[in-house]
Amino acid sequence: MELHILGTASARPTSTRSVSGSVFSCQEGLVIIDAGEGFQMRYAKQRSRLKRENEPALLRPNRIVAVALTHGHLDHTWGLLPFLQTLFLNGRKQPLTIYGPTSPEILDKLYTNGIHASVPAATPSAELLNQYRYWFSLGGTAGHLGYPIRWLLGDPQSGRWVEFADNATRLLWHDSMPQPDAFKSFRMDSIPTSHSVPSCAWQLSRKERKGAFDRDKATLAGLNQEERKQLSEGNDLKRENGDELQAAQFRGPTKPAVSIVVSGDTAEQSIQPPSPVTVLVHEATFLNDASDKAAEHLHSTASGAARTALECNAEHLILTHFSARIRDAEEATSEAKEVLGDSLGLASANDGDRVRIDNEGVVTILKRADNGWVQHNLSHH
Ligand SMILES: [Zn+2]
Ligand SMILES: [Zn+2]
Repeated sequence: MELHILGTASARPTSTRSVSGSVFSCQEGLVIIDAGEGFQMRYAKQRSRLKRENEPALLRPNRIVAVALTHGHLDHTWGLLPFLQTLFLNGRKQPLTIYGPTSPEILDKLYTNGIHASVPAATPSAELLNQYRYWFSLGGTAGHLGYPIRWLLGDPQSGRWVEFADNATRLLWHDSMPQPDAFKSFRMDSIPTSHSVPSCAWQLSRKERKGAFDRDKATLAGLNQEERKQLSEGNDLKRENGDELQAAQFRGPTKPAVSIVVSGDTAEQSIQPPSPVTVLVHEATFLNDASDKAAEHLHSTASGAARTALECNAEHLILTHFSARIRDAEEATSEAKEVLGDSLGLASANDGDRVRIDNEGVVTILKRADNGWVQHNLSHH
């Protein structure tokens, strides 16, 4: 699995950093995590870089199965509708599911008063329900886009989700977050975070896998085809000579779940991801000299991101979402390193970087270079 980090600025972009937007890629599909202004241009650029490196299929847009928003601030959402319209112009037919967090109060309003419920007076303008309604009216429904599109709003804390079904004319309630249809051995989960609007982190995980069937051992034991089949399907068996064979003894060790968590915007806090965290991609809007600002605006410092990484037992930490005041992201890395020592793999992201977890669970970061990417092993061992 891989994460393409396509924007590493906070709300204000710089000449080298764009606003937020990432693409998670695995064999079961792609998930867009946030899509700030200009997202589709960054996506197109990353695709053409991949084509030059002979990896043309990796980000093919018809492989996108879901969009997961972390919160409603425009530096995370304002590129979404144009991107959806480009997918339509490209002739997309595949279904797409869009996920975004909202508050329990908004869900209560919708539950009680139905799809046209008004939002409470104190609701921030960046509330995702406001944006969803705006996008529906601007052509964001299946009827206009020509491909099936499911819009979901949910409360990451309670796991209650509502869907805007039938061209956003009807509400459909879910007791837990529906997974993308294409996901079988992967899953995605929203994790509550703390920001000035409803917000969540997203965890994309490959589930725990059974160990491989040990063919050599089966050969040494002189097993026939049928016996191998039974054992590899997990059935214990008794041979004609009376030997009892246990399926578990012919299987290698279980491969643990691996995952990438993308924090979105959040104050320093402890998060509780449902699966072990292999890589935490965390915002580091500020440095220590602005920690009061971080607290005031519910953002993190680089060292706060490091403390969160320790707290959730992440194996690796990638810093992103830098304030325009940070001239050199290496300053953020060194402040995080003061907290972490050598206990975690650590790097700062630039636009276009890729974080990869291979099938053996080894983590590398591919730093974008003038031509392609340069691979760095992130492992701290
Ligand atoms: Zn932001
Ligand atoms: Zn924000």
